[in-house]
Amino acid sequence: MKIKIDDIKTYPIAIDRDEVFRISTGSSLTAENVLVRIISEEKEGWGNSSANSVTQETTESILKAVNVMASEMENKVVDVEDNWKRMRDKLPEDPSALAGVDIALYDLWGRWEGKKVYEIFGGVGDDILTDRTIGHMTESETREHAREFIDQGFKAIKIKIGLGLMEDVRRIEAVREEGGPDLKIWVDANQAFKPEESITLCHMIADLDVEFVEQPVHVDDLKGLKKVTEETDIPIMADETIKGPKTAEKICTEEIADMINIKLAKCGGLTGGRKIVDIMEEYGVNGMVGCMGETSVSIAAGAHLFNSTSKLKYADLDSHFMLSDNIASGLDFREGKLHISDEPGLGMKVHEDKVNDHLMDLEGET
Ligand SMILES: [Mg+2]
Repeated sequence: MKIKIDDIKTYPIAIDRDEVFRISTGSSLTAENVLVRIISEEKEGWGNSSANSVTQETTESILKAVNVMASEMENKVVDVEDNWKRMRDKLPEDPSALAGVDIALYDLWGRWEGKKVYEIFGGVGDDILTDRTIGHMTESETREHAREFIDQGFKAIKIKIGLGLMEDVRRIEAVREEGGPDLKIWVDANQAFKPEESITLCHMIADLDVEFVEQPVHVDDLKGLKKVTEETDIPIMADETIKGPKTAEKICTEEIADMINIKLAKCGGLTGGRKIVDIMEEYGVNGMVGCMGETSVSIAAGAHLFNSTSKLKYADLDSHFMLSDNIASGLDFREGKLHISDEPGLGMKVHEDKVNDHLMDLEGET
């Protein structure tokens, strides 16, 4: 799809989380995102880049990178996929910045053709079961949070671990007790363990019906990850290790992990995400679409990617629930599931007044 680009604007925003979010690699009270708005004649598309520790992009680096892309794209007609390749080669260290631009282009693509984004990919509309994530906290706080989320309708809970094996196991047990046998439980170590500890952990939680364990070992320890995958019965999912289509292919061909976690901010948006899905389909590998502190704009993009394939079995699309304000509407949550709107593109309506409430004090607009 070729799209005429008239203008690219950026909106750096900081939104407080409802509470501090702690995981093995750090903690955060405020989520920083850059919304990208691309104007194409009378239509506009929105995307979302997130400042995050995985790709090590900051609000400042994202604004800089989007400015570079804007200078190449404005007043030109661009092909969405070619543009992704060109920008990725030009800015290989800025996948989250590229994600914001790429998502906005798909939003425009859908709006120009009157299609939902998942329809562009040949997908089928469906409601999407998402989890809610519980960060590092005490066992009793973990239990209280699990109860609260279950009462809100969530059917799946992801528990961030890495507080020590005994403490981690007690917290997972507490959630299983609260949720009963029907609750889906997912576990994410965010690189907290050595391979041997990871194997021990998986044996300790073998009876707790955990559907998978994410990234037990260090991002670069592929040998260790493969060892854990081979020596445990609980499926192991690679997250931080997956940086884009290239690493996804390596994980699949060398059978380093059982599953793959796609995050749009890691792989440069929907074009990159879809490339990973193609690889998963080729090798018959399942996975999840996740998120990184993003607003509902990016969460909607993840939901459309989810609906584009049967290989994405799980959706961890909950970061917008953790933010104290929702800057866009069009993605509803009912009975544990996300519902995509019937509007074309991402189906989201960004509320500019809300965006303005959270604008950071930076030289933002391009
Ligand atoms: Mg993860």
